[in-house]
Amino acid sequence: MVTYMDGKWLDDADATVSVRCRALNYGMGCFGGVRGYLSDDEKEVFVFRLDAHVRRLQHSAKILHLRLPGDVDEVSKLHLELLRRNDVHHDVYMRPLLIHNSNELAPVLDIDSSSFIIYCMPLKRYIDKDAIDVCISSWRRVRDNAIPSRTKPTGAYLNSALARREAFDNGFDEAIFLTEGGKVSEGSAEHIFIIRDGVLFSPPSTEDNLDGITRRTLIQLATEDLGLKFEERSLGRSELYVADEMFLCGTGAQVTPVRTVDRRPLGDGGVGETTKKIQTHFQDVVHGRVEHRRNWLTPVWG
Ligand code: PMP
Repeated sequence: MVTYMDGKWLDDADATVSVRCRALNYGMGCFGGVRGYLSDDEKEVFVFRLDAHVRRLQHSAKILHLRLPGDVDEVSKLHLELLRRNDVHHDVYMRPLLIHNSNELAPVLDIDSSSFIIYCMPLKRYIDKDAIDVCISSWRRVRDNAIPSRTKPTGAYLNSALARREAFDNGFDEAIFLTEGGKVSEGSAEHIFIIRDGVLFSPPSTEDNLDGITRRTLIQLATEDLGLKFEERSLGRSELYVADEMFLCGTGAQVTPVRTVDRRPLGDGGVGETTKKIQTHFQDVVHGRVEHRRNWLTPVWG
């Protein structure tokens, strides 16, 4: 595969950093995750909400003293060029990575050591199950005041990895984080929605979670296209146990229905009707089947 790194198009094997790199030693960087979907006629690949992803990366860069190689338009074009250079004609995941690429010893945020990388890989499902069993993690979500969660910081994924390890070891598919204050935050790489009495709820991005693009997308699709009621508010742990339905969402997870929380079955134990509706509509949108949502898609080949 071809990878972009600091103005060069390199073979994957040549896109490397030193073992001394601050990004590697101290987790000093941030990243994104962008999906492209193969169209139904298999002639086009639609990149989903590229603009929003690059804007979020721009915000992360600002917070973490990092520099992107250009404005939103220029960085978006690099994503598209990566797919063209790799002759991508399948579902794909792109990973833009912005790091402090200095080999100095102390952890200092120095904008002049910014390195920008984008690589890609084929991706169908990130969570390979139709409905999942989740647990509340004993690990708490890292606080925005400690490591700013909205930046998608490389270092904070140790927090995610610890929670996932614990979940897997205990026979669950995914972990749900609470904040230090005990409110529902997010999954290891997904946002959370529950449905109670026909109303959709999701915690705000001030609960130490990422400012999610799929989450914002689903709020719009649910309220504007499907006529559902939505409320953004803090959620308590035990509200998850008594939800009629629950699902996780994210660029990787897309819309992933939850079957049980801490071994308590939700609703009648299957995938709920509202979740199914949202999931189907989301898939229609990302595959270009919904005309008025086409402005969220950037064609790679057209
Ligand atoms: N939370 C975390 C910690 C994540 O890594 C992700 C994946 N990017 C999400 C939520 C979902 O966010 P998005 O919909 O923007 O991909």
